[in-house]
Amino acid sequence: MIDPGSLVDLNRRHTLFTWTAQAGLHPPLVVSAERCHYTTATGQRVLDLASGVFNANAGLHHPAIAEAIAEQARTLCVAAPYMATEIRGRTGQALAAITPRGLDRFLFTLGGADAVEHAIKIARLVTGRSKIVARRRSYHGATLGALAATGDERRDPFEPWLSSIVRLEDPYCYRCPWDTSPDRCARPCADHIEETIEREGPSSIAAVIVEAIPGTNGAFVPPREWMPRLREVCDRHEILLIADEVLTGFGRTGRWFATEHTGVTPDLLALGKAITSGHAPLGAVAVSERVARHFDQHPLVTGMTHTAHPIALAAALANVLVLQSEGLVTRAAALENTLLTRLRAMQARHAIVGEARCVGLYGVLELVKNNASREPFVPQGGDAASAAPIKQIAARLQGRGVHVSTRWNFLFVAPPLCIEEHDLHAGLDAIDEELGRSL
Ligand code: PLP
Repeated sequence: MIDPGSLVDLNRRHTLFTWTAQAGLHPPLVVSAERCHYTTATGQRVLDLASGVFNANAGLHHPAIAEAIAEQARTLCVAAPYMATEIRGRTGQALAAITPRGLDRFLFTLGGADAVEHAIKIARLVTGRSKIVARRRSYHGATLGALAATGDERRDPFEPWLSSIVRLEDPYCYRCPWDTSPDRCARPCADHIEETIEREGPSSIAAVIVEAIPGTNGAFVPPREWMPRLREVCDRHEILLIADEVLTGFGRTGRWFATEHTGVTPDLLALGKAITSGHAPLGAVAVSERVARHFDQHPLVTGMTHTAHPIALAAALANVLVLQSEGLVTRAAALENTLLTRLRAMQARHAIVGEARCVGLYGVLELVKNNASREPFVPQGGDAASAAPIKQIAARLQGRGVHVSTRWNFLFVAPPLCIEEHDLHAGLDAIDEELGRSL
């Protein structure tokens, strides 16, 4: 048995870690996981309030999903994407039962980013138009096409981009681009959708892509009118509406999909992450009947070797059954109030918390330098040194056995949906205490 230090060295010597410089990295060596905890080689048991990367909704290791993968591996591991299989049919059927009405045909992809790219490709094929409208505070994935649609600073090192992306300002009430507040505003953000589309020429726009509730850009919920207005403008100009639910899908927000909170059904839904609760890599694009019908007579000009991989589909089918049988979507809705109340109490107690937001089990604290001016705690897109204080909070929490995800000024609380209430409170107690310590 190689000792833990040497194993981490092997990881560092021969593999590259994402989103970070490699020098000085000390990744935890994970040896096992169950429900909301993972255990490292040093024996530390860590409460994971990030659900891996916001993907392990059913838990970090679910025996039923693991067993479904094993069973599929014993039966049929390899099937080419042009073949029909039992698991492909059954998984499509199970997904169709939970996705918004009318979105019951699926193109399987390898993950979230390529689900977004395929949604964009499909929109272009169906409409014969090229432009894509996307929001500024958005993230759609790390591949080049998905990153082109992304509006946040993760795109910056890869400029220049395709010229066909059009930016939409965000309905982000805490930092309203129109400097108004929800109670006294005439919804310029909703008018702005129409103005932008009119200015660009609606007949050149294939699709608008939005996260119904943004993920890593801070879980801000648009005003109630925003999505219906977007839907109405898209319909009027025959522009397709793509909802990126890679992060919000499969129960995270207390509904199966976050678009359900808006009363709007998109034409395409990009899925990933919790489609297998992280147990195997998979993504999907769900499409409406109208979109699907286009491909009755036109070829779907795309494909990847591992599309509809049986092992990943077995994980997806088992995952849906687990989420259903354990009632985890309603559990996320039921725990929203507990989480929101605790986060709001932290907002009241700590001057560095500007706003607490929460939908289902997707909570975020937005940190500020000054509560009154709302000056961001660290400048957006600032260098690594400026982000150090937030990283320090996360590191101290990790030392206490509580893992949180942070990005820019956000500290996220997004545990697996199966979290026990006492574990949730224990994690929140630790966050509360660390926020109270001087930085
Ligand atoms: N879309 C959203 C909203 C995401 O949050 C992410 C990843 O964080 C993606 C797409 C890309 O998914 P993946 O990293 O699985 O490719």
